[in-house]
Amino acid sequence: MKPKVHILGTGGSISGVGPHRLDYTLYPDSGKKLTVAQLLERIPEAREIAELSGEDVLQVGSPSIGPAEWLQLLQRIDKTDAGIVITHGTATLEETAYFLHLTVKSPRPVVLTGAMRPPSSVGSDADLNLLDAIRLAASPDAAGRGVLTILNQEIQSARDVTKSNAFRVDTFHSRDFGVLGFVDSDARVLFYRSVTRPHTTATPFDVRGRKDLPRVDIVYSYAGADGTLVDALTERRREWRTEGMVLVGFGGGSFPSAFLDAGKRAVKAGIPVVLATRSWNGRVVATPKKDADGFMACDDLMPQKARILLMLALTVSKERAEIQNMFYTY
Ligand code: ASP
Repeated sequence: MKPKVHILGTGGSISGVGPHRLDYTLYPDSGKKLTVAQLLERIPEAREIAELSGEDVLQVGSPSIGPAEWLQLLQRIDKTDAGIVITHGTATLEETAYFLHLTVKSPRPVVLTGAMRPPSSVGSDADLNLLDAIRLAASPDAAGRGVLTILNQEIQSARDVTKSNAFRVDTFHSRDFGVLGFVDSDARVLFYRSVTRPHTTATPFDVRGRKDLPRVDIVYSYAGADGTLVDALTERRREWRTEGMVLVGFGGGSFPSAFLDAGKRAVKAGIPVVLATRSWNGRVVATPKKDADGFMACDDLMPQKARILLMLALTVSKERAEIQNMFYTY
């Protein structure tokens, strides 16, 4: 009996069709995308690995994927008992992956993959990435590890992975932590590390059946940034339905003072505010002063992932201490 693997197609470069074989930049504009069935036709060997099924949930570039689409994918995952592969654009792949890492209520393998070069191009990574994703989703070893990503033969945890380069195939990195393992050149699925933070079935985030999530916005700071954008969010929070903010500062949690003052006004207005950092590695720490000002710290999550955790946290609690604790837990 071969394991069952169900492929959910969403679009992205892995399904892109360019105007010619040497195109690596214009294909997103063509709007043409291969279906899951067409992607599988290119790798007939995959049927020896698993009993395959698939569906085209979306056919978009991943800049067009957000909370509504995450919830749609969650619903599709829930409808099957197979291992899951999601083909996805690389731009926001890490965000969909982290959302699912916190919300899928099953230990089944859930694997996201994409490609940096469309299948229509010379040297495309699309076929091998999809094949490796199927190998990984078919592997009993991949179960219970949370949501995984695979590109460039590297297995990474959805929590830690981020896209680091606009064009190289070696773009996904887990920063301080490194890869979990490989689907290696001999086709073996090899794990060397596990994630320790709870995920999937071990989180309180059950958003199945929801149509939307609390809106959380990110404001980025820079040398000389003032509080204009943060104040705008605070003042128009009702109209814009802002329920939380992630403020991105420097290093371990410093900010231009006018920017942070605006953050304090947001807290006073009742908006939960999480402080994050534009540094690629390391933590934002909660100091007594930041605590007294009512801020929360993101621990080591990148801003785009801190946003997702805050969105989910707000579905279960409005208590600052409880939400802060979630940032040290997940
Ligand atoms: N434009 C693509 C996307 O959908 C980029 C990619 O897949 O690499 O994110």
